[in-house]
This record gives sequence, C-alpha cells and structure tokens, in this order.
Amino acid sequence: MSKNHFETDAVRTQLNRSEFLEHSVPMYVTSSFVFEDAEDMRASFSEEKQRNIYSRFTNPNTSEFVEKICKMEGAEAGYAFATGMAAVFSTFAALLDSGDHIVSARSVFGSTHTLFTKYLPKWNIETSYFKVNEPDKIESLIKPNTKILFAESPTNPAVDVLDLEYLGEIAKKHNLILVIDNCFATPYLQQPIEFGADIVIHSATKLIDGQGRVLGGVAVGRQDLIREIYLFSRNTGPAMSPFNAWVLSKSLETLAVRVEKHCQNAVKLAEFLDKHDKVNFVKYPFLKSHPQYEVARKQMKLGGNIVAFEIKGGIEAGRKFLNNIKMCSLSANLGDTRTIVTHPASTTHSKLSEDDRMEVGISDGLVRVSVGLEHVDDVIKDISQALSS
Ligand SMILES: *Cc1c(COP(=O)(O)O)cnc(C)c1O
Repeated sequence: MSKNHFETDAVRTQLNRSEFLEHSVPMYVTSSFVFEDAEDMRASFSEEKQRNIYSRFTNPNTSEFVEKICKMEGAEAGYAFATGMAAVFSTFAALLDSGDHIVSARSVFGSTHTLFTKYLPKWNIETSYFKVNEPDKIESLIKPNTKILFAESPTNPAVDVLDLEYLGEIAKKHNLILVIDNCFATPYLQQPIEFGADIVIHSATKLIDGQGRVLGGVAVGRQDLIREIYLFSRNTGPAMSPFNAWVLSKSLETLAVRVEKHCQNAVKLAEFLDKHDKVNFVKYPFLKSHPQYEVARKQMKLGGNIVAFEIKGGIEAGRKFLNNIKMCSLSANLGDTRTIVTHPASTTHSKLSEDDRMEVGISDGLVRVSVGLEHVDDVIKDISQALSS
C-alpha cells in the first residue's frame, strides 16, 4: 500500500485495540508493567524482547504519540519529554562529550540560549553564534571539535527564516549533526529531515497541543542518535507522562485543520498591519516584504501563526499597546487557540541591553502576535483599537 497522507496518519495511527475494542485510545496510567516469569523479565531487560517495562523508559501512550510524530516528520525514531526544554537539553547532553563545540544561530529560544551560555560550559561545551542574516559566516565558525549545528526556523520572536537546505548542505559537508527546533512551523508546515536535519525537536506545548493545556516535548530523527537520547533519558528521567501523551496524540488528529486556519488568520492580520500608519514594518514569512520570503516559500507550506511587527514610538508605544488590548491575551505561551500578544522589549527581554536585544532582532517597538482561532475580524478589531488609542 502507498504511504498515507499526513492527515490520515495523524488520525489513524493508534495503538492496537484492547479486548474492549474501544474506538478511541485509552489512557495507560501505570508506572510499570508485569512480566510472565523470570525468563520474560530477563529477555525484556536484555532488550531481546521489545516491550514496555517501566513508564520512564516507554509507555503505550507515549509510544503512540512518538510514532505519530515520526510519521509526520519522516523520522526513523523518537522519544517524548515532559517539556520542550527537556527535549532540547537531553538532545545536547546525550550527543555531546566534554570538549565538543556547537555552532548555533544567535536567535534561539531564551532558555536554549541560557543552556548554551550558562550550563553547557560547565561540561566544557562551548557555542559559537551566527546571525540569522549572515548564514555565509557559518562555515568560518566550524572548528575540528564542532559536533552540532543548531537552529530554529522561523525564529522566536522576530520570525526570521533560515534556509534549511543550506544548513543541511553545510552539516553534511562538515560531518555535523544538524538539530532543528521545528516548534514554530510544526511538521504540517515544514519537515526539516527532508532538508538534511538529523534530529528535529518540538515543544509540544505550543501548536502541537494548540489548546494551552499541557506541557510536552519530543525529539525525532536518526535511529542511532535517538538511541543515545533514549538511553540518556531513560537513565535521567525527563519522560513525558502518559496523560500528556494521550492529550497530545489526540491534539495531533486536528493539527492540520488547526494550523491551516491559524495561518489563514495570520495572513489576514499581517496584511492589515502592513497598511497601518502606526506600524513601521511587519514580519511574516509569506509577506513579500519578509527578507527571507523566497526561502520561506521554498521550505514552508504556509507562513505559520506568528506575526511580528514594529510599532512606531518604541518601548513606550509598545507598553501602551499592550495595556490597551481588550480581548487578546497577554501571556507567555504561543500557538494557542487564543490570540496572544507580547511586547518582548518591555517584558520577556527587558533585562537584555538594547544591543543584545538588537542582536536577536528585538527592536524597542517589536510586538509578537500568536494568532489564534477566534474570528480574525475580531482579532483585527482588538489590535486596531489598541493601535489607535
Ligand atoms: C517554548 C519553546 C521551547 C521550550 O518548550 P517548553 O515546552 O516551554 O519547555 C523551545 N523552543 C521554542 C522555539 C519554543 O518556542
């Protein structure tokens, strides 16, 4: 049989039915599993037998979730984590040795950057950074001990886009492991493995759950690398809970329709802001004015749900804008059904110096909107009145 379509795998990938022939998959809320006898136990621990032993290693619900994500990303194997950051940390901790070196985009999720600057150096692992608009500098940063090339695309919060095919070529040429955080795009919009990524990471907390309910993370990719990540994780304990896996596996059934609608709404908001006289510029991957528009069109199915724009009047105007928002939420999450508005310079990134903020594309007036699933006219109405007052 030919391969199923994305939506079909998302809906139809499920565990074998139990004796009750349930239609929807039950939750296996159990910490451990029993053995028939001593021989069964020996064979299971020696991995002669593939089966569930203890839910820190594997659990039916987490396995179902992982299998689905693997199909959607075109990956060989994966492991599910309690949070996106657990997936990021475990990937680096499992794949790197003391003395190894990382080359990463400077614009990465805040906690990932803290991991690079504060924690990995404890194990003598250093990171060199390239600016998203200077990918031609990447090769000059590679050293004999460089092992991982890391990036997110689109980036948070400035919505820059990196050329995944180009990153894949560099990784291959220099024998590096290419790790891509695919959180903003989801596997529905972009599948980095197709462009040469070895490992793809998600914060499932965002669009994969998409309903602001549970935390989760996942890493999928090459079998041999996932094996290392699995062994590290089964011994250190960042596993996803069966309940969260059950929720997230259900969430994946609706990922395609949700993301499709999120993107439709986001384009309309981006076009509205593009013409607004209180706005300096809008950054949205599928607007022609986006600096990496051609790259975005090449590697993404749609532009995603995050719209960034610069409000005229800097920090003060940004703060006023947030205070005038009536319906949209001021929240640290993104990828929710509810539209979320943030102003990084006065909130999440207020501790950074102006120079450091500019390094990651956060100008004083930059506003980030995670466009939700309300009627887009109501979202535009709220943002419009907040810009005018
Ligand atoms: C939120 C986020 C993470 C971290 O995920 P958590 O589930 O919050 O731990 C990592 N990378 C990106 C791009 C994110 O947006």
